[in-house]
Amino acid sequence: MDDSYLFTYKGRVLEVSETEDGRMILILDETIFYPQGGGQPYDLGRIENSSGTFEVEEVRYFEGKVHHIGKSLQGEIVVGEEVIELIDEERRILNSKLQTGGHLIDMAMRNLGYDYLKPTKGFHFPEGPNVEYSGVIPEEEREALTIGLEKDLNRMISEGYEVKIQMAEKSELENLCYITPPETPDGKPTRIVAVWDDLFMPCGATHVKNISELGKMSIKKIKCKKGNTKISYLVE
Ligand SMILES: [Zn+2]
Repeated sequence: MDDSYLFTYKGRVLEVSETEDGRMILILDETIFYPQGGGQPYDLGRIENSSGTFEVEEVRYFEGKVHHIGKSLQGEIVVGEEVIELIDEERRILNSKLQTGGHLIDMAMRNLGYDYLKPTKGFHFPEGPNVEYSGVIPEEEREALTIGLEKDLNRMISEGYEVKIQMAEKSELENLCYITPPETPDGKPTRIVAVWDDLFMPCGATHVKNISELGKMSIKKIKCKKGNTKISYLVE
């Protein structure tokens, strides 16, 4: 939640159990593993100590707990033991870049006067990342928008911006955020993220520290269907 670049961390095993298909589940007191959500895939990696090595094949958030699902490669890790958590750095960095790039498209859309389209969904997986908006873009505008978006995205990336992440009370969200999803929970602070111009939105995922790390972005396609617009993108 605080540091997307923390790739190694110390934790303690609280629970060990098994999935229905016979895989192991470890639950730790604290974790750096990102469970799938917010359009971002889970982290992979290892959990280990002197008594065993556990390969994390899947991470899910379920009933308030992060489930590290996988198999024992060697030995056995038991409840109460201290462990070292190691996440796959390359995968985390790529996921953080794609996640941040998705936010940046929102910013470029606003800069180009398309903020009347409401962001609805994001898919930030390496397999065909895209963002979706409610509303359509006239066909004759799409080619110019593709070029305009690429230009504006790469302008922002070359100028750079330190990504801001903070917690906000529900009452502050309206002032700080350019969009607040209706499902924002009551009674607890919400994590909000800005990738440009102090324009925040609620997000619980991982991001790069500075958008300059994105290198170069390109727009693959703008597609409109059933009243929605889907913008596919790539991050270098
Ligand atoms: Zn995000």
